[in-house]
Amino acid sequence: MTRIMLITGASRGIGAATARLAARHGYDVCVNYASAREQAEAVVADVVKAGAKGLAVQADVSDPNSVERLFHVCDLELGPLSVLVNNAGILETQARLEDMTGDRIDRIFAVNVRGAFLCAREAVRRLSTSHGGKGGAIVNVSSAAARLGSPGEYIDYAASKGAMDTMTIGLSQEVAAEGIRVNAVRPGIIETDIHASGGEPGRVARIAPALPMQRGGTADEVAEAILWLASEEASYVTGSFIEASGGR
Ligand code: NAP
Repeated sequence: MTRIMLITGASRGIGAATARLAARHGYDVCVNYASAREQAEAVVADVVKAGAKGLAVQADVSDPNSVERLFHVCDLELGPLSVLVNNAGILETQARLEDMTGDRIDRIFAVNVRGAFLCAREAVRRLSTSHGGKGGAIVNVSSAAARLGSPGEYIDYAASKGAMDTMTIGLSQEVAAEGIRVNAVRPGIIETDIHASGGEPGRVARIAPALPMQRGGTADEVAEAILWLASEEASYVTGSFIEASGGR
């Protein structure tokens, strides 16, 4: 039976690379996005080109009603979920903690933490054998920032990924006996548009020489780790973290 993967924030970057690779691995793919409809449709076109079914669904993951609708549409259009990739994430302009507003901190945690929790909740309701589901996998896209703390750049973002890591550990144990594996990837410095949101589009080039591998990573390299954690090859792996960070 075809496996169905829902990827949040898949209109570009790591989410889009994961969608394209998932299609090549035979998944039908639900491509969630916040506002970039055309980019999401282009990802779906590539999914279809690879011979899979694809669907672009707009939903703000921080909004409970939008998240419920996202999963409902995925159920209706593609069928029963197999894998959730909790990938949608944001950061804001580089700043020291003493300059962060309450609204900014709320925005970061709303998308990166509340969004991941709400999507995980909808996935567990569908996948858990205790709800009549057939089991499956959740892959959280965390960040090396959860270990490093991102001083002088975005401690709020790093801390939101720390919360995601804690959720990965707790949820993996909560649902382990119900057929669901929960793991995370911690990407390092990856060449995507997210660095421009932090106000430094050239951040990868600046930091790359100081990394053990002396280069940034690609979204495709992170997607490989996500697909492995989602796959049957990782059938005895849960509550685990893959560092896709070039040795940092
Ligand atoms: P990106 O290029 O900025 O893409 C972010 C994606 O998230 C876009 O598809 C965006 O949709 C979507 N998104 C943003 N807010 C959303 C919301 N409220 N609801 C639903 N979707 C939303 O980011 P990326 O670099 O690929 O990062 C993907 C994940 O990897 C994030 O969780 C990030 O924290 C993590 N990560 C990235 C790096 C890195 O160096 N790039 C390193 C470590 C971890 P629209 O296009 O519609 O706005």
